[in-house]
Amino acid sequence: MKSSIESPAGSTDYDVIIVGGGPVGLLLACLLRQQGLHLRVLERRVEPIAHSAAIGITPPSLQILDKLGLAAEFIASGLKVRDCFVDGQRGRLGCVSFREIPDAHRFILSLPQVSTIAILQKHLGQDHIELGCEVSDVRQFADHCSVQTGECTLTSRFVIACDGSRSRVRELIGIRAPSHVYGCHFVMGDFVDRTGFGDEAHLYFTATGSVESFPLPGGQRRWVVQTETRLDHPPPGLVSELTRERTGIVVPASDQINESVFTPRKFNSDCYYKGRIILCGDAAHGMSPIGGQGMNTGFADAEFLAAILCHADPLKLLPAYNRFRRKAAKTAIFRAEWGMWLGTWRGRMRSRVRDVILKFLLCQGPVARHMGSFYAMLTIPFNTLKRVPAASLKPRPL
Ligand SMILES: Cc1cc2nc3c(=O)[nH]c(=O)nc-3n(C[C@H](O)[C@H](O)[C@H](O)COP(=O)(O)OP(=O)(O)OC[C@H]3O[C@@H](n4cnc5c(N)ncnc54)[C@H](O)[C@@H]3O)c2cc1C
Repeated sequence: MKSSIESPAGSTDYDVIIVGGGPVGLLLACLLRQQGLHLRVLERRVEPIAHSAAIGITPPSLQILDKLGLAAEFIASGLKVRDCFVDGQRGRLGCVSFREIPDAHRFILSLPQVSTIAILQKHLGQDHIELGCEVSDVRQFADHCSVQTGECTLTSRFVIACDGSRSRVRELIGIRAPSHVYGCHFVMGDFVDRTGFGDEAHLYFTATGSVESFPLPGGQRRWVVQTETRLDHPPPGLVSELTRERTGIVVPASDQINESVFTPRKFNSDCYYKGRIILCGDAAHGMSPIGGQGMNTGFADAEFLAAILCHADPLKLLPAYNRFRRKAAKTAIFRAEWGMWLGTWRGRMRSRVRDVILKFLLCQGPVARHMGSFYAMLTIPFNTLKRVPAASLKPRPL
């Protein structure tokens, strides 16, 4: 990589440097390339991620992918989840159905994060991403920023931090992101699927802990079990054992493909930008993965930010980005927390109360109908740019 490159960006090497080539950084890069901006994604990883992390892609995200002409490829690679069945202590409580949600895409698309990254990276093209490139410093001046990586200094008009929840860039520019670690712990594993559940998702809420089960493409299924404490080294076969104990379903340990452990936390950064350096995706906010909203919230950030960065005077629109995207993240964080809180109640009495609440939510007419839109993230405020008042995107004096 050269340290100073003649480019269409004029006096800087690039219009935009994106730190981090996770799903959000790559989506943002694709959207900016579509508008003809000169950019570089700097990603410290060399190999693809080992775990599948995010799997649920919601309809608003598919609308954004549509803009890039990528929705069809995503849908062809993934699996459409149209129903999520919910069981309690004494059997079926109801179903969250996406079949009648008011959107062109009436399903949640299941696709492992590693495949999402691969499709976006291929679409962006090798020329715009530098792998194995860790950013160690960022600085900003009146009209540009500089980014340090190894011995090399690159300049751009804007730097976007898409470097994940432990963002180095956020730390360097001193934006506070006080976080809260929840007292809930989970172990998850992807298995060869022999359940016969097909494309159905299943949630089991029991007195001894929750079990969640989501279909994956390629004949696999993810199982997520709640544990009492954080188990950094779970005993072999734990996911199978807890699944059998709590649901009666036999998921042979020999069918397990991978395993990971997580303890959710939440944060919403105090501000999503400082001068010309802007936070996006997990660098800006963190939420419980239960509910599957983190990456989707980041995709909506990227769409908003792409529109701003293509504007003649992006600096004047950053307050709107901060206001609308912080509010959207706040709602998503609250919903993920609420869902996890209710789902992780343990003990017989609390379980019975939960069953009553869930039966009401899932089996009564208008409320039950609303649940599909709720979990598809159609009711998150400003979930796509189309739902942001146009007047807010008119620049105001700084
Ligand atoms: C178990 C689990 C399940 C989940 N399920 C879902 C789901 O179904 N749906 C959903 O929407 N979300 C889900 N999420 C959340 C989702 O995984 C994250 O929200 C998503 O990965 C955020 O993407 P990102 O690009 O912002 O950050 P990341 O994916 O964290 O990417 C950041 C990138 O920046 C790179 N990087 C970091 N520091 C530097 C540096 N200094 N220099 C260069 N590069 C750097 C990293 O290598 C990484 O590639 C889940 C999360 C977990 C843990």
